[in-house]
Amino acid sequence: MVKYLDLQKINASFEPELTEAVERTVKSGWYLFGAEVEEFERRFARYCGVGHCVGVGNGLDALTLIFMSYISLGRMQRGDEVIVPANTYIASILAVLRAGLKPVFCEPEWETCNIDANKIETLVTSRTKAVMVVHLYGRVCQMDAIYKTVSQHGLYIVEDCAQAHGAMYKGTKAGALGNAAGFSFYPGKNLGALGDAGAVTTDDGELAERIRALANYGSSAKYVHPYIGINSRMDEIQAAVLNVKLGRLDADNNRRREVARQYVEKINAKGLLLPMVDEEQAHVFHIFTVFTPLRDRLQAFLKARDVQTLIHYPIPPHRQKSLQDYATLSLPVTERIYREELSLPMSPLLTEEEISQVADAVNSFFVSVNG
Ligand SMILES: *Cc1c(COP(=O)(O)O)cnc(C)c1O
Repeated sequence: MVKYLDLQKINASFEPELTEAVERTVKSGWYLFGAEVEEFERRFARYCGVGHCVGVGNGLDALTLIFMSYISLGRMQRGDEVIVPANTYIASILAVLRAGLKPVFCEPEWETCNIDANKIETLVTSRTKAVMVVHLYGRVCQMDAIYKTVSQHGLYIVEDCAQAHGAMYKGTKAGALGNAAGFSFYPGKNLGALGDAGAVTTDDGELAERIRALANYGSSAKYVHPYIGINSRMDEIQAAVLNVKLGRLDADNNRRREVARQYVEKINAKGLLLPMVDEEQAHVFHIFTVFTPLRDRLQAFLKARDVQTLIHYPIPPHRQKSLQDYATLSLPVTERIYREELSLPMSPLLTEEEISQVADAVNSFFVSVNG
């Protein structure tokens, strides 16, 4: 069986360092606000090429805290609008809502599945304050076109980098492409903890300081609380794990690209759309997507051939019961993505045999339907 993602195998490949790091932290007697988090924040800021990194509890909190801080600093007002891609994991949209702002859904481009820069312009109103770019599946958005629109209207760019650790755009890393970025280190991400963790990266020192305060009960000094905050911390054990795994992120991303290259080479199926593999590290293949109107049949066929796949995602945000206000929007590109997308197994540790097994199974499905 080719698993969609073998986390046990991935984490075993970091031994014995991983267990040593956890053991060291357990024995240290210090579990929050310590040397491991400090080290991770310093290293991850440098890795992304920004001045500040703030470790928080998870990716949703990272994104929420960015917007809460903009409001707290008076740079945004409750009810202001944030343009978000209509096809994303629901967390991107929940972050905007949790902060008291209004998400405005923007269609993606079919070719990249990322926010369509040409459509952003038509959604800007006097209340628009920011564009959230989600580098979905690990592919960086078309930033130049987005910069052009954003600079004309004086908007902030907030990046959702939960799927794009280490991805680059013209030599700049995701996390340094906007005014602030939220990362998730959920176990299955390209840089994954052994539980929940997240971070904000930014060059804005005032924003970083406010995020740090809001993530710690709105505290500026012990028992002094000038702001209404939340509790969202990266803990020392997760930071120790991330400090071990960060050292291999670039090598792992290279390996993911190599797996993608082999899929593209080996899959030869008429009617199946494959992602483009470029050399610029603009795509770190958190998810390897294929598209076909026969998606559900292909998934069932692969399952019968012992190949595990997933759908990212089966129900778009505007079709979720929790977001009923958006249900009447016409979002044909978004809906096509949700109807046709299938995610093939992807991991830096996928073997040549596994890649061939997946490719052969995909090819034989299309031989069987195309005749
Ligand atoms: C995983 C993910 C998040 C949320 O991260 P958590 O750490 O689970 O809160 C946000 N946005 C996207 C695009 C994601 O894939």
